[in-house]
Order: sequence, then C-alpha cells, then structure tokens
Amino acid sequence: AARVSLRCPFSPLPAAAARFVSGVGREPGSDESSDATAVLRHLARKLRATGAVTVAEYMREALTNPGQGYYTRRGGVGESGDFITSPEISQVFGELIGIWYISEWIATGKPKAFQLVELGPGRGTLADDILRVFNQLSSLLSKCDVSVHLVEVSPKLSEIQASMLTGGKVQSNPEDSSAYMEGISKSGIPIFWYRDIQDVPLGYSFYLAHEFFDALPIHKFQRTERGWREVLVDIDPDVPDQLRFVLSPSSTPATENFIQPEERRDHVEVCPEAGVIIQRLACRIEKDGGAALVADYGHDGTKTDTFRGFRNHKLHDVLKNPGTADLTADVDFSYLRKMAQGRTATLGPIKQREFLKNMGIDLRMQVLLQNSRDTATHKQLLHSYDMLMNPEKMGDCFNFFALLPHHRLAHPDKKQKPESKSPIPPVAGFGELLLK
Ligand code: SAH
Repeated sequence: AARVSLRCPFSPLPAAAARFVSGVGREPGSDESSDATAVLRHLARKLRATGAVTVAEYMREALTNPGQGYYTRRGGVGESGDFITSPEISQVFGELIGIWYISEWIATGKPKAFQLVELGPGRGTLADDILRVFNQLSSLLSKCDVSVHLVEVSPKLSEIQASMLTGGKVQSNPEDSSAYMEGISKSGIPIFWYRDIQDVPLGYSFYLAHEFFDALPIHKFQRTERGWREVLVDIDPDVPDQLRFVLSPSSTPATENFIQPEERRDHVEVCPEAGVIIQRLACRIEKDGGAALVADYGHDGTKTDTFRGFRNHKLHDVLKNPGTADLTADVDFSYLRKMAQGRTATLGPIKQREFLKNMGIDLRMQVLLQNSRDTATHKQLLHSYDMLMNPEKMGDCFNFFALLPHHRLAHPDKKQKPESKSPIPPVAGFGELLLK
C-alpha cells in the first residue's frame, strides 16, 4: 500500500487563499524549471503574447493538449503510473458495477438491447471486469444485443484499452461509423471508441464515469473586498518559464456566470465541462432510457480549494512541468445534480463503502477467500478490501451518484391507474440489492 497513492485527499490540503496572489510556494533549489516541458514552452509563448489564462485553459493544455498533454502522452493510471484507482485495486469493484447495470436492466423490463458507454476508461480494466460479469451471466443476456462505447481522448490510453479488451485486434477509422476505432471484445461484444460523448449513437444506454469528471478543467474563483475575481495562470515576470497564480483585475464573464448570489464560500471551483456532459447524459437518458453511474471523489457543494497534481504517486505542484503530472479537482456533486435540471432523477452521492456494501461486496469477498488456497492471495484480497472500504482510505472520500429516468423511481401512471400495485424495485447500491 505504501507504494501507491490514491487521488482522493486523505487530509485537507493547506488553505489556499494566500497562495493565489503570491504564486505557489516553491523552495529555492528544488526548482525544475530548467527542464521546461513542451507544454510549458507552448504556454509561456501564449501567456507572453496574450496575457494570463484561466485555470480551466491551463488544465486543458496540461492534460489533453493533442501533442503533449498528460493524458495524451502518458496517462499514468496504475501502480507503475502516477495514481491508482479502484478498478486497478480489485476486480470485485468492476464486477459489482457490472451487477449494478444488470440489476437496472432487469428492473426496467430487460430491454432487447443496451449500450455500455464508459467515459475516460483509463487502462480499460473496469470495462474488462464488467464484460466478464456480462459473460458469466450470458444465459440471462443471451437475447440482449450488447455493445460497448468508450469515450477516450488519449491515443495512448485507447491503445492500452484495445489491447486489454480485444487483445489488440482493432480497426482504425472504420468507414461505417462515427467511431475512430472499433473491435470485438474477448467474449464477442462489439466495442467502439469516440473522442466525444456526442459521437456515441443514441439509444437505451448505461453510462459510466469513474474518476473521469475530476480530470475535467475547472475555473477557480476567489472572493475579494472588491467582489469575486477569477484565479488565472500567468508567467512570472521575474523568473523565466515559471508560472504563478494571479487574480483577474476585474470580474470576468465566468465570475458573472458561475458564482451563485447566495454563495457563502470564499473560494469556489466550477467545472462547466462536467455540467455540459451531465446535461448531455440527462437528455439522452430522458429520451432513450438507461442510467448513468458516476463514481469519483468529491463533495456536495462545500469544499473550496481542491486543485492538485500527482506524479509518481506523490503530490505535485500544479504549476510545475505541466504535461508531466496528473491534475485533478474534487467533483462538486451538487453542481452535477443542478445540471441534470430535473430531466432525470438523481441518487446520491453516497459513500463508496456504503454503495459496495449494499452491492454485496462482503459476500463476494467471502466466496473469493474460500476459493483461494494460498496465503498470498488471501492477504492480497484482504488488503484490496481494506483499500476500497476503509473510511480512511477510499471508503469515505469516493462517492457514487446516479442519473435515472423519473419513471424508474415513481410510477408515472399512479394517478390514472391507482390499482397498479407492482412495487418499484429499489435501485441497487443506493438501497439493497435484490438480485441474488
Ligand atoms: N476510469 C479510469 C481512468 C481515470 S483517469 C480509472 O478509474 O482507472 C481519466 C480518464 O479520462 C483517462 O482515460 C483520460 O484519458 C480520460 N479523459 C480525460 N479528459 C477527457 C476528455 N475531455 N474526454 C474524454 N476522455 C478524457
């Protein structure tokens, strides 16, 4: 465990406000600015020409710049990368999520087809574990037409996903679809890759976003005596190729649009891109049915400065060597709920340990423990359970949040047909799992 770090914050990072105006505290001597990264050189040119940029623009360049961004080039998920995620810790995590989709599919009357749509699939481990469950339940799914649709901007990670899920047998730029790549899973399910959720075909779909929204660009705002100001990234005029945070001299369109009049916090982070994507998912689910499951670390509209960097499993100065470190911010679930705008019902956020407990993780672990004979596997199983469930590790800081069609939670025709008595099955994970 000591070798890997999670992106969820164990303890609050130091309060931010003071850092913003004065630049990030760098110890002299520990500076790596001499090995300026390609992203830094590109940004420095831009900043000199046009002035400071928003944190969102900075984050977008650092993470997904087509040539040099962190995810585009490196995308370090996993033990040998920069951070570790739940699906990389235990197969049980993905298996229980697979069961969640099956349970929703049954609860909505076993539609004849569904798409599994994953946003930001990383190494493809989670999709692989889910597809294994679908394969194990193939007798149940035999009459259902299942396809997998992955939304991934990183060429490097999509290659890793392809080799994990299809053994590398893929076709690039297929003529007959909007996907940039397609292949067939080990169990025979068609898989398609896209850069944008809007390219994914419409239809009854199960959406999944695990540690995806935290990687999207945020805007940061600071309350000052003169009103709200946006935090910007600029080049330090005194130190070559060194970046610093500054405050916008006046309000910006973003301060006008994103700060609520009733806001009480002094520092606020907003991720408009997350809002747009949630709106798209909500529209699709409202129209075609299905469900979305979002799992991430985050808060319900209470936290302030959560922007941080990770490199080699260590916290990393967010302004240093952009493109070489993962940058991330806590997901604001209250914002996601607001952006679903009543188009769908929402459930959660609830803590990962409660969700997994409701999904039957204890029973699944018991079976795996009984079936494993050697002590090393036993130890590994117990260790991964502890990582996922311990409130001090991932159990409390990760949350599950779902979008569901309204009719999934309430009979629309109750008024017209009060005699309809069939009870609505509870949504697994947020309540008890009935499918056994
Ligand atoms: N879900 C995986 C990986 C999380 S890392 C896991 O839990 O292990 C974030 C993932 O989102 C990476 O696959 C990254 O390449 C992808 N990503 C980041 N920004 C994206 C964007 N704007 N559109 C699509 N994918 C993106």
